[in-house]
Amino acid sequence: STLPPSAAALLERRERVLGAPYRLFYEEPLEAVRGEGALLFDAAGRDHLDVYNNVPAVGHSNRRVQQAVADQLGRLNTHTRYLTHEVVDYAERLTALFPPHLQQVVFCCSGSEAVDLAMRITEYQTGADGWLVTRHAYHGTTRAAAAVSPSLGPNNPIPRHVVLVDAPDQLREDPAGIERAFAARVTDGIETLRQRGTALAGLLVDSCLSSDGLQLDPAGWLRSAVDVVHRHGGVYLADEVQPGFGRLGTGWWGFPRHDVAPDLVVLGKPMGNGLPISAVMGQPSLFDRFGRDVRYFNTFAGNPVCIAAASAVLDEIEDRDLIPHAAEVGRHLLDELRRLTADDERIGEVRGSGLFVAVELVRDRAGRAPDAGAAAFLVNELRRRRVLISASGRDGNVLKLRPPLVFGHRHAERFLTEFSAALSVLGAPG
Ligand code: PMP
Repeated sequence: STLPPSAAALLERRERVLGAPYRLFYEEPLEAVRGEGALLFDAAGRDHLDVYNNVPAVGHSNRRVQQAVADQLGRLNTHTRYLTHEVVDYAERLTALFPPHLQQVVFCCSGSEAVDLAMRITEYQTGADGWLVTRHAYHGTTRAAAAVSPSLGPNNPIPRHVVLVDAPDQLREDPAGIERAFAARVTDGIETLRQRGTALAGLLVDSCLSSDGLQLDPAGWLRSAVDVVHRHGGVYLADEVQPGFGRLGTGWWGFPRHDVAPDLVVLGKPMGNGLPISAVMGQPSLFDRFGRDVRYFNTFAGNPVCIAAASAVLDEIEDRDLIPHAAEVGRHLLDELRRLTADDERIGEVRGSGLFVAVELVRDRAGRAPDAGAAAFLVNELRRRRVLISASGRDGNVLKLRPPLVFGHRHAERFLTEFSAALSVLGAPG
């Protein structure tokens, strides 16, 4: 391999001590020693353009987050069983960013924990445990969250009370029929649950369907399905771990794109710019009974240090206008990628919103058969060119571009130059 000696030695030690669950990105793994804004630096000081990481939304090594965390760590770090103003101040700020019915928040430490808690609250409220999720969804890693994460593959068992519903497929379905077709699949799913002797608890959907290949259009495709769920007494749980905090450039969250009102919302990833903080947003009617009868306490969740990071993230997004920035840079990226690939038979579609862009690789435009090999080639070729992306989707053929929100026009230019070069060395479908 062409790995630098220091990285090769580290890789060997890592494999010995960390074991099989720890997978690395890229044929040529990256040893990352420092981050700054939208760049990651390797041990030799070479910069790599980060077009993948959404967690450091306000930038790697963000100074404001760093300062806020350091100050708070030097003052007080405890749990939520005392009166502390930091957690209340932040909860007020956060809830103000949601529609009025989502006026309360429960903090957790990871997206998975928040999904797990939202599922428990839903099941307690409905007295049912049947779930509908999309066929290639990812919602996390706890036992309950993994049970609704079919993208983990065939060896991750999906229990009988979880029914998989095909996500919309923008490239292959008639756009005019997507909303109706998805609602029909949800209706069928509820019937399948019934036949299995299970009632519907809820529909859990990533508002931008990231692991199903980023399916955003037509706006509103989820609306009728949510009506169906509500008519059957179910809860609509919006997973905003991916689209949340301005990623799509259209506002703070992804669900308004569907013109729907979630009963519960899960937040995570970029919330603390890398510090472990996540949340479930909901209405008192859902939290009250659960909170009283079942109770919830999470030792580290909502501690003032993580809250300090989360509040600095809001400050940065607001003061630096990162949502309109994501819209503008993302629009440019999308337009240029479409122009660059207009006559390229290997590109089925370029789609996206804000700084979440997907490039779907196909064997040819007429057949639209997914080409995962081409996607993997481009991911590794770009990595050799010091540009970091990844691939996702049901067939692994969708390039996922999802940089920190501070990604600017000069970063977009660098990406486009390298992407165009990588495309030129990608051969015809083999
Ligand atoms: N939901 C979605 C949509 C996610 O993308 C993820 C993480 N990839 C999770 C939930 C789980 O979050 P975490 O890894 O913080 O537990």
